[in-house]
Amino acid sequence: MDIEQIFKNNQNWVNKKLGVDPDYFKKLANGQNPDILYIGCSDSRVTAEEVMGVKPGDVFVMRNISNMVSNLDLSAMSVIDYAVSVLKVKNIVICGHYGCGGVKAAMESKDLGILNPWLRNIRDVYRIHREELNAISCEEEKYRRLVELNVQEQCVNVIKTADVQIAVRQGRLSVHGWVMDIGTGKLIDLNIDFEKVLEGIMEIYHLDKDEIKSK
Ligand code: ZN
Repeated sequence: MDIEQIFKNNQNWVNKKLGVDPDYFKKLANGQNPDILYIGCSDSRVTAEEVMGVKPGDVFVMRNISNMVSNLDLSAMSVIDYAVSVLKVKNIVICGHYGCGGVKAAMESKDLGILNPWLRNIRDVYRIHREELNAISCEEEKYRRLVELNVQEQCVNVIKTADVQIAVRQGRLSVHGWVMDIGTGKLIDLNIDFEKVLEGIMEIYHLDKDEIKSK
């Protein structure tokens, strides 16, 4: 893709939008009010807006290698905090994808330098679910399942944050785990049963602002 072409494409897009609504950019400049926070992979094939068929202003987006939510990642924590506390999104989606290079790399034993600590979070997902994963003999199937379980664990990481816990308890926020199948283009809702997933562990991560204040 040639950089000059991108500016030509952009001008065409601007003209097209103005052709439909001359005030389009004036309205866009007024502010954003998205209902969804989308956390997806940086993979060039999984373009959040295009895959979901949404417009500018509809979705707050964060993408990184393998759609990770690490509590030491200031970027992820800031995005979640801003989306929940300021934008007051109603849904948080973690979207992984089959064929994810980061998940594949985490399944191998190579030293990948600066990527090691990042991928270790996925290796930790493998460790948590090793019994289920080790029981799968087909490597491709195991790889796909790790993609799904990684989405599940990143949803759990989202739920561990205080802002999300409060919003979920107040019934104004839902968390969803999805996978995009690059081979078909389809989005798949994993329909994760969080009550079941968090059974017995949520008490460890339970945070309550009032309880903290009264201590
Ligand atoms: Zn990926």
